[in-house]
Amino acid sequence: MEYPDRFDVIVIGGGHAGTEAALASARMGCQTLLLTHNIETLGQMSCNPAIGGIGKSHLVKEIDALGGAMGLATDLGGIQFRVLNARKGPAVRATRAQADRVRYKAAIRSILENQPNLTIFQQAAGDLIVDQDTVRGVVTETGVRFLAETVVLCTGTFLGGIIHIGLETSRGGRAGDPPSNALADRLRALPFRVDRLKTGTPPRIDARSVDFSRLEEQPGDTPTPVMSYLGSREMHPRQVSCHIAHTNERSHEIIFANLDRSPMFSGVIEGVGPRYCPSIEDKVHRFADKSSHQVFIEPEGLDTHELYPNGISTSLPFDVQLQVVRSMVGLENAHITRPGYAIEYDYFDPRDLKHSLETRFIRNLFFAGQINGTTGYEEAGAQGLLAGLNAALRARDEEAWCPRRDEAYLGVLVDDLITLGTREPYRMFTSRAEYRLLLREDNADMRLTERGRELGLIDDQRWAQFSTKREAVEQESARLKASWVQPGSEAAVKIESVTGKPLAREYSLMDLLRRPELGYADVAGLKGEAVDDETVAEQVQIQAKYQGYIDRQQDEIDKLKRHEATPLPADLDYQRIEGLSHEIRQKLSEARPQTLAQAGRVSGVTPAAVSILLIHLKKRR
Ligand code: FAD
Repeated sequence: MEYPDRFDVIVIGGGHAGTEAALASARMGCQTLLLTHNIETLGQMSCNPAIGGIGKSHLVKEIDALGGAMGLATDLGGIQFRVLNARKGPAVRATRAQADRVRYKAAIRSILENQPNLTIFQQAAGDLIVDQDTVRGVVTETGVRFLAETVVLCTGTFLGGIIHIGLETSRGGRAGDPPSNALADRLRALPFRVDRLKTGTPPRIDARSVDFSRLEEQPGDTPTPVMSYLGSREMHPRQVSCHIAHTNERSHEIIFANLDRSPMFSGVIEGVGPRYCPSIEDKVHRFADKSSHQVFIEPEGLDTHELYPNGISTSLPFDVQLQVVRSMVGLENAHITRPGYAIEYDYFDPRDLKHSLETRFIRNLFFAGQINGTTGYEEAGAQGLLAGLNAALRARDEEAWCPRRDEAYLGVLVDDLITLGTREPYRMFTSRAEYRLLLREDNADMRLTERGRELGLIDDQRWAQFSTKREAVEQESARLKASWVQPGSEAAVKIESVTGKPLAREYSLMDLLRRPELGYADVAGLKGEAVDDETVAEQVQIQAKYQGYIDRQQDEIDKLKRHEATPLPADLDYQRIEGLSHEIRQKLSEARPQTLAQAGRVSGVTPAAVSILLIHLKKRR
C-alpha cells in the first residue's frame, strides 16, 4: 500500500545518526518520518554506555550547539561525569559521561516523541524507490510505500551484519536485533563502493559476583561537569563510581593459547576493526611486551547489576571469555551475563558523498553514521544532524551547508571522510583538527549557535539563553578591560599575595587575568562585582588567556583564505617540497592544480599541506 501522507524527509534508522537527523529536519519545519526497526531501541547504545571523551565531547557539544539531543540526553542519563585532560589546555579538555543505558534511551525517545513535525513508524525498510537517479521514497519489508522529497539512510551496523562469537557466526544487526539484508542487497546493486568493517563489544558482568574491595575506585569529578549548554547538575540522576581492574600475564596466556579459535586471527573475519578501540586479543597480540592492560569496570545503569568491562572487547569463544574475565583480580568469581562478540557489516566509501552527505550517485539520498565508515555514537550523531539538516534544505530547495574545518569538528569529520575516505572505522581525535585552539568544547555554542538559528535549528528558548550568555561574556570582558589596579592599592596587595611579586605599574583586570598564575576568581572581584554564572566566567577566562594563540590561528586561516587565488607554477616539482607527505606529493603531482584553492580541494590535501605550499612559493620568489 502507499501511505497517504507525503513527507519532506524520511530517515531510516533510529540510532544515534537517525535520531539527530530526524530531529534536525523536524526542527527546521519539515514533515519528517523516522522509520526504524523497533521503537523500543530508539537511541540505543550498541556498545559502551558512555558519551563524550577526547575529541568526541567536542562533537557532542557541537550537536548541542546546533539544537541536537545528545547532550541533553546525556545530562538526563549520566551517572558519572569527568573532565579528561583537565590539567591540559582547554583545546584538548573533554567531558565524558558514563550513562545509564535505560535513562539515556528514555530521554532520546521522549525528545523524539515531543518533537513537532516528526512521525515515527516501526518497520524495517526493505527497498528504496529510485526513479532514474533520484530517490523518491522507501518501501518497508511488509510493502508499505512512503514517498518523500529526500531520504537519509542511518542503518548503522545492520547492513549485511554478521555476528561472531569464537568460530560461531549468526546473522544480526547487533545482539538481539535482525540484520538488514534486503536493504543491503538493494544498496549493493546501486553504484556505491561497498566494503566490510568490523567492531566488537566485551562480555557484560553481574556486579554481585565482583569483589570491588580489590578494585581501584574511580569517582566522578566534583563539581559535576555538565554536557549540554542547556543542561544543569540538577538534571543529573544519582552519581556513582567506576572501578579499575587489570589483565595480567595469566589473562594474556589464556588469550595466546586460544588465538586459533578467534575469528579475527583464524581469518574468518574479513572486515577491518577499529585501531583505536581494539579487541583484547588484538591488544595482547600487538603489544606482546605489555604484561597488563587496564580494564574500566563501568556500571550499565542505576537499576541494573550489569557492568561493562571497558577494554576487553572480544570475539573469542565464550569459554575463553569466561577464563579471561576470571583471571583478573577482583573478578575471580565473575558471572558473565552476556558474551562479548564482534560484528561485521557493510559500509560505503564516504568519498562517494558530498559535503552535505548527499550521495554523488543518487540525488536526494543522504548517508549518515556508521554506514559511512565511522565508529562511535558522537560521530554518528554529528553526521546525522548534518545529513538531516541538508535533507531538509534540499526539500526546501535551499543551498546545502557544512561547517568548514576551522569552524567545527563536524567540518573536520566530514571533510576527512569525503576527501580521504577510510579503510578502518574512523573516530574523532583532537589531533585531527588543525585549528583546535579555535575548536574547543567550551565554545561550540559561540561558534555554531547563531548559524544554527539562521538555519532554523534553534528554538526560542535556546536562542534566548545563548544570546544572554554571549552578551554577558562581552560585557564582562569589556568591564575587565576598563577596570584598573594601581600599584600600592588594596587590590594590588591582594594580587601580590597570590603572585608573590609587586605590581610594577597600573594593569587592567584583563591584563592580570592573562597571567598564568591568576584566574578569574582572583581578579574579577577586585574592582566591581564578578559574574556568578560559571559558564560566562569560564568563557571570559579562556578567551583572555588564549587570545594570543587564538589570534595567531585566526591569522593563519585568514592568510590561507587571502592566498587562495595564488597560482601554482605549471612546472612545480611537488616531489621536492619538504614537509609534504608522500601521498600528498603524489596526489598533487597527478592533479596539477592551478591555484592554492584548487590544491586544497584535491582529495587528501590538508590545510596544513596548503600552508606548506604557500611557504614554498614564497621561498621560490
Ligand atoms: P546504530 O546505532 O547502529 O543504529 C542503526 C539503527 O538503524 C537501529 O535503530 C536499527 O534498528 C535501525 N535500522 C537498521 N536497518 C534498518 C532498516 N532496514 N529499517 C529500519 N531501521 C533500520 N562504537 C565505539 O565508539 N566504540 C566501540 O567500542 C563500539 N563497539 C561497538 C560494538 C558493537 C557490537 C556494535 C554493534 C557497535 C559498536 N560501536 C562502537 C559503534 C556504535 O554503536 C555506533 O558507532 C553507533 O551506534 C552508530 O550509530 P548509527 O546511528 O550509525 O547506527
